[in-house]
Amino acid sequence: MSSRALNRLVRTISFRLNLWYALVFTASAAALYFFIYLLLSTAIEQADREVINAQLKELEVVYQAGGLRALQLRAQASTEGRKGRSYFVRLLSPNGQVYTVFVPPDWVGYEKSEQLVGNQRYQVVSPYIRIPKDDERDLTIGSVTFRDGFSLQVGRITHNREILLEPFRRTFFIVMTPVLILALLGGAIFAHRVTRPIRQILATAKSIIETGKLDARVPASQTDDELAELARLFNHMLDKNQALIRGMRDSLDNVAHDLRTPLTRLRGIAELALQKPHDHANAAEALADCVEESDRVLTMLRTLLDVAEAEAGVMRLSLERWDVCSLLEEVASLYDYVAEEKRLNLRLELQRPCFASIDANRMRQVFANLLDNAIKYTPEGGTVTVRARTEPGAVVVQFRDNGMGIPFEEQDKIWERLYRGDKSRSQRGLGLGLSLVKAIVQAHQGEVNVASLQGEGSVFTVRLIEHPPQHQVASAA
Ligand code: ADP
Repeated sequence: MSSRALNRLVRTISFRLNLWYALVFTASAAALYFFIYLLLSTAIEQADREVINAQLKELEVVYQAGGLRALQLRAQASTEGRKGRSYFVRLLSPNGQVYTVFVPPDWVGYEKSEQLVGNQRYQVVSPYIRIPKDDERDLTIGSVTFRDGFSLQVGRITHNREILLEPFRRTFFIVMTPVLILALLGGAIFAHRVTRPIRQILATAKSIIETGKLDARVPASQTDDELAELARLFNHMLDKNQALIRGMRDSLDNVAHDLRTPLTRLRGIAELALQKPHDHANAAEALADCVEESDRVLTMLRTLLDVAEAEAGVMRLSLERWDVCSLLEEVASLYDYVAEEKRLNLRLELQRPCFASIDANRMRQVFANLLDNAIKYTPEGGTVTVRARTEPGAVVVQFRDNGMGIPFEEQDKIWERLYRGDKSRSQRGLGLGLSLVKAIVQAHQGEVNVASLQGEGSVFTVRLIEHPPQHQVASAA
């Protein structure tokens, strides 16, 4: 493996997870091993103490019943006659002098030396006792002080503890090596499994960046953990982005298409006028047409910008407490003439008072668009009703008409930018009115929806948050 690849491997989450896993696993195993060792060692020591205490008690009883002589006899018997581990017994006088000591024969060693006595050489054997400690053996001692001031000590060699614990210590590294290998293996499998969703997210992101295809998605996960949730959210984000990009492309296509018509017309008018440079009347008419077409283009661009601004959440609203009913009357009065011309019955049913916190200029645009549509899409002789009423915490405004209605399958699409219903193309319009209405109402934290039956009419309902009472009344009401 090259040093760059190794460097990359070391920096991966899988590698670090693997290391941590192996470390924690091995440390836990070692701690457990140590704990068992400690437990065993304490248990053996405890057992030793119990045996010594029993021996002490026995000798105490003997001493109390038969005195020093009896104790000496019993001590001698218990140090010499026993099989297995024998005892060391020592009696100390009240002033701390060793009064008598019994040492089992296997505890005593001898040193031989030579001494000169006169001109003769004698071999001298001097015994020694390997207490309290020699290089391998340890001693556990218990003691009791009698009423007459004598104290008795009983000791026992603890080397059986060592015999039991020594292999434990010796095999520590032998046991820990496979544990470490197991931990590294387990860690690798664990890290690989845990990081699978991350690798899938990375692969999906890479494929989108490299191929430009927006429909790549992270495969669905069987689990229900945070990484599965992350993958789901990532897919959801990709869905939304794809829809947004598609929407933007469509909008751009529509705008280009809708701008082309008035601009082509504008160019045509100007070209025609140029062909007759001396016809002033014709030139004036052409210029008027040009202004009209330019206005159309400008209105469209302005509305598009307004919708974009409101949808992006950056539309600046100057909210004030307004009498919504007065605003509706004002807007309706602008349409009196059109309604009359179309012989429409325009009715206002306003339940006063109806105050709400709104940006009056923006809300005027909302009401004008909805009323304009109701009048536009209702045939001659029809009825358009504007209603307003107050509900707890809200003002509800409705625009009802008995016009052509909207087919059910179009009812979701009419709110999209530049969307125009199939049957509405004969009417003037840019397909931007309802998207602006929705954007402005939502910027007011309100709601707008439609209920419609084809051939019977439509009801557009706007729900606005009522103004809190402490706000200043800015309307002319
Ligand atoms: P425009 O009216 O310029 O076409 P809008 O965004 O205002 O654009 O409306 C989008 C579409 O919704 C219209 O083309 C029309 O099909 C439908 N629509 C809106 N209001 C009504 C209504 N009151 N009655 C029937 N159809 C309507």
